[in-house]
Amino acid sequence: MPLVAAYFRPDSLDEALSLLAGPHRIVLGGGTTINSDRQRSDVEVVDLQALGLDSIESSETELRIGATATLADVAGSDQVPDGLRAIARRESPSTLRTLATIGGLIASAHPDSVLLAALLVHGASVDLAGSEAMPLASVLAQGVPSQAIITAVRLDPTGVLCHAATGRTPADVPIVAAVARAGAGGISLALTGVAATPITVDPDDPVGGLAPPGDFRGSSGYRVELAGVLAARALGGLR
Ligand SMILES: Cc1cc2nc3c(=O)[nH]c(=O)nc-3n(C[C@H](O)[C@H](O)[C@H](O)COP(=O)(O)OP(=O)(O)OC[C@H]3O[C@@H](n4cnc5c(N)ncnc54)[C@H](O)[C@@H]3O)c2cc1C
Repeated sequence: MPLVAAYFRPDSLDEALSLLAGPHRIVLGGGTTINSDRQRSDVEVVDLQALGLDSIESSETELRIGATATLADVAGSDQVPDGLRAIARRESPSTLRTLATIGGLIASAHPDSVLLAALLVHGASVDLAGSEAMPLASVLAQGVPSQAIITAVRLDPTGVLCHAATGRTPADVPIVAAVARAGAGGISLALTGVAATPITVDPDDPVGGLAPPGDFRGSSGYRVELAGVLAARALGGLR
């Protein structure tokens, strides 16, 4: 279990925001990242689960996923386009998917998250309590503003999605993945595994300027090479 110092379960967003103003307080989503740390700490958690932020709603032009919807909720929702659902189904092991939330996914900004890359190509923006709404790309680059709470992510659900990925085995988290979308605004492309977070790139020059850190799964040069191949595959799949 996490060695957090205190646990709060507010009943309203206002209460959650005022609790977060206290020292050492952080938001608790599904807890899959927070609870993976077994070091004793002075962290106090503000649990969002009683706030009713887990709904998933869609119209023809907008999909809204509440911050405490789990990755399993997204994978199983008939409000979510098939391409996004398929990617959500492959994100993390099933035991984590039933706990991990969309808000936690965004705040964690995991560089290997194919679901975050898919949200990026859908032009996602992030609703925040305690701050103005922000494009997802800005939240990933800058982090969640201090003492703000992600309440939902909104995106354009239309268009065609195609993704390509390479992992050490088909079941592993991909070393690099490319997600491409053809929408009303044209083609968009995002990559994982090539920067500190998933990023959008120019479909005409997907690897220009990339300098990814290497690790035991793949050197920097290997990742750039792979990104070029996978970007071409994902873009080719849109035709
Ligand atoms: C074994 C393991 C494997 C993992 N594999 C993957 C993987 O393959 N791909 C991947 O992307 N991630 C992976 N993760 C990371 C993690 O599971 C995901 O990022 C997950 O989506 C986090 O969601 P959560 O709701 O559990 O977040 P939590 O653990 O509750 O919180 C994580 C962070 O997000 C903040 N936060 C949570 N909700 C909000 C909110 N609504 N507003 C503001 N801040 C918020 C918290 O304060 C905390 O800083 C893995 C983690 C573990 C332990």
